[in-house]
Amino acid sequence: MKILVFIETDGGAAVAGSWEALGKAQALSDDVETLVIGEGVADAAAEAGSRGAAKVYVIDDASRALFDIDLYAADVKAVLAQSGADALLASHTGNGRDLAAAVGYDLGSGLIADCLDLSVDGGKFNGVRSLYSGNILATVTAEGFPQMATLRPRAASAAEATGAPADIVTVAPADATARVEIQKVEPAETGEISLTDANIIVSGGRGVANDPKKGFELVDELAATLAAAVGASRAAVDAGFIPYKHQVGQTGKVVRPDLYIACGISGAVQHLAGMNSSKVIVAINKDSEAPIFSVANYGIVGDLFEIVPALNEAAKGKLTN
Ligand SMILES: Cc1cc2nc3c(=O)[nH]c(=O)nc-3n(C[C@H](O)[C@H](O)[C@H](O)COP(=O)(O)OP(=O)(O)OC[C@H]3O[C@@H](n4cnc5c(N)ncnc54)[C@H](O)[C@@H]3O)c2cc1C
Repeated sequence: MKILVFIETDGGAAVAGSWEALGKAQALSDDVETLVIGEGVADAAAEAGSRGAAKVYVIDDASRALFDIDLYAADVKAVLAQSGADALLASHTGNGRDLAAAVGYDLGSGLIADCLDLSVDGGKFNGVRSLYSGNILATVTAEGFPQMATLRPRAASAAEATGAPADIVTVAPADATARVEIQKVEPAETGEISLTDANIIVSGGRGVANDPKKGFELVDELAATLAAAVGASRAAVDAGFIPYKHQVGQTGKVVRPDLYIACGISGAVQHLAGMNSSKVIVAINKDSEAPIFSVANYGIVGDLFEIVPALNEAAKGKLTN
């Protein structure tokens, strides 16, 4: 199965989820090509090659500086035809899902969106999708060709850099008209570190329940010291301690940071589904039997109201020395 992976760019640089889509495609097939669209994307194209794509199609043009669904969909359809690929895989970002849905509709091939995992059987994608608020994990296939799927960010490991030279194929932008003029895109100024991009996450759970305000202040302070994002369990979200956008897990965000610190989280399977691929897991829990300790690299048995501030002071000391 030849898979074409869409490498999404932002300001010329590839977005992280695209390398994960490439990594998943390489795990599924020996015949993987990529398509990079944007302006000033030569480095992203070279990186796609060095991360193991056999061929890199590049559309590098001022008209493609900002994502436009009409123009990008026309480009993808043209390159799918040129490459003869059997399938398209993109990261399930806002742009990736719009693009794959538009192309899937135009080609009548359908789309398996937001896959937590993917396999190939008989030349077709089998996509694992979370349905009904995570109550069911369904394996979904689509009849149409080329096969189309999007992969949830952080659901796979990024393609590793091998340093292989890239076979770069420069392609002219497709002849298409944009129906909408996008003048500029500004990132929202939230002042927060995005959960899915964070290298370090400090998460709080129902263990803060005795004093949720104080508990999440301590979590926030440790996160600020470590330049980390703040996560939470669903129990903490459902109790109203913290908004849903911080939820990690099967019905929240899937994360894969270098360091995940779980404070007062028991380690239910639905929480683990969102974080157990983290490189190093530290668990703080007063119950030594809590299941979170079975996935933790380091466990601290004790009261988070004492341990988190102590950890924060120790980290401050280390980071300022
Ligand atoms: C369909 C479905 C989807 C779900 N999706 C998600 C999801 O996306 N994410 C998610 O997180 N959950 C999800 N859940 C819920 C999940 O099953 C658990 O209920 C939830 O993860 C529990 O959160 P918790 O660990 O914070 O709370 P608890 O399980 O109540 O654990 C609290 C922990 O804190 C410890 N503790 C208490 N006080 C202290 C203290 N002072 N210091 C240190 N430790 C302390 C306790 O020993 C305990 O281990 C889902 C459930 C279902 C059915």
